[in-house]
Amino acid sequence: MKKIAIIGAGIVGSTTAYYLAKENAYDITVFDEGLGQATKAAAGIICPWFSKRRNKVWYKMARLGADFYQKLVADLENDGFSADFYQQSGVYLLKKQEEKLADLYELGKTRRAESPLIGELKILQKEEVERVFPGLQGFEALLYASGGARVEGSQLTESLLVASGVKRVHEKVNLEVLSDGYQIAGQLFDSVVVAAGAWLSEILAPLGYDVDVRPQKGQLRDYQLPIETGAYPVLMPEGELDMIPFAGGKVSVGASHENDRGFDLTPDRVVLETLEHEALGYYAGLKEASSVSERVGIRAYTSDFSPFYGSLPEEKKVYVASGLGSSGLTTGPLIGYELAQMLQGKSGLLEAADYPVSRYIQKRG
Ligand SMILES: Cc1cc2nc3c(=O)[nH]c(=O)nc-3n(C[C@H](O)[C@H](O)[C@H](O)COP(=O)(O)OP(=O)(O)OC[C@H]3O[C@@H](n4cnc5c(N)ncnc54)[C@H](O)[C@@H]3O)c2cc1C
Repeated sequence: MKKIAIIGAGIVGSTTAYYLAKENAYDITVFDEGLGQATKAAAGIICPWFSKRRNKVWYKMARLGADFYQKLVADLENDGFSADFYQQSGVYLLKKQEEKLADLYELGKTRRAESPLIGELKILQKEEVERVFPGLQGFEALLYASGGARVEGSQLTESLLVASGVKRVHEKVNLEVLSDGYQIAGQLFDSVVVAAGAWLSEILAPLGYDVDVRPQKGQLRDYQLPIETGAYPVLMPEGELDMIPFAGGKVSVGASHENDRGFDLTPDRVVLETLEHEALGYYAGLKEASSVSERVGIRAYTSDFSPFYGSLPEEKKVYVASGLGSSGLTTGPLIGYELAQMLQGKSGLLEAADYPVSRYIQKRG
């Protein structure tokens, strides 16, 4: 049996492990330190269709990534796991200039032709919203898309890893290239998947690679409300703020995008309270909530904001993925699946050449 190591148990590493394990042809070990993991800290909104980014290959990955959740959910359910981690709760999109909601509606309609998952699209007036999400304010109208979803990242990765039955090692590891394979924590492997998010450079730099990936700190706060919020759609005003209601009165408010904090994992009260203040403007009911946790995660960005995946130039049995940025919970499962296909020499749902590793990773000298 081929021995495969996966470094990183975020959304990419966990999905790769899950789809590789399905083949029953590999001996898989997942190494994960877990500190600052973006997946655990993520807001979990799956709604790529209204993005104005012009990058067509990015958009293709994002829309297919949203679609891919249907397969992931079905596969996990077939394996006897609950898919509680994923709900198409719908999203409310707000515009500061509400006359622009009509354009957003048209964009959604156009994109629905290739992404029926968007579901029902409707411009709703405040009174109609009040019936579904009582107390929401700060707007006269908004756009509703029924197919938008929310995902609990840590619950999803845990299900994937348990379902895959792989060996799990909770420690920070280094990668060494030997003449007969790859050494990690004293063990030798035939192939390695480095799904280390923002920490990719730290792992590859000692092997002589320059990596164009930089860290971005993201913070959010979780609240507990004394009411049931499971049926409330996700609120997406323009800007940083999002409000994500989950079942059982849990509501997450986030998320910051801080480019100048490196790998700092300290919750910053000023940043979190600014987000809370803004959220209160849309939902005064948050005053009744208690703050239950604060999460900090590090996103990975490339200089052109595009993700990449594939094997390393000059080291074809080392596979990498990173640069997923602020939409990595949307694209991550698909990237993990693509890596699993690639490792088996099979084709996937994307053209790997559209997301080339060589654009972001070069061997020095
Ligand atoms: C606050 C916040 C909100 C977000 N909201 C959304 C959202 O609403 N929608 C969306 O689509 N995306 C969102 N994202 C983005 C998304 O979470 C990330 O892009 C995605 O989770 C990245 O996944 P990953 O597997 O590449 O990396 P990660 O999840 O960061 O996982 C990498 C793992 O590798 C481990 N690792 C690294 N180096 C080593 C080593 N040497 N040894 C062992 N382990 C190692 C780390 O500890 C970590 O556990 C958000 C991110 C943040 C931070």
